[in-house]
Amino acid sequence: MASGFSGEEQRKHRGKCIDCGMTLELYMLDLKKNKRILQCRRCGLFHSYSKDLLGKWKLAKAAKVLDL
Ligand SMILES: [Zn+2]
Repeated sequence: MASGFSGEEQRKHRGKCIDCGMTLELYMLDLKKNKRILQCRRCGLFHSYSKDLLGKWKLAKAAKVLDL
């Protein structure tokens, strides 16, 4: 079947803070670079996502300070 993360796994991890588990809200979206930044509503942690070849958003990194 599918390799790597399943679609279920992707959905489960998308939009939740990796630190506190709170819902993330969109902070910045850059479609030209296939990149988006989400911020945790509770602790303020930034989550940087990038789009993979299949068009799925994948978490690239998370940081307290936004580093573009
Ligand atoms: Zn958080």
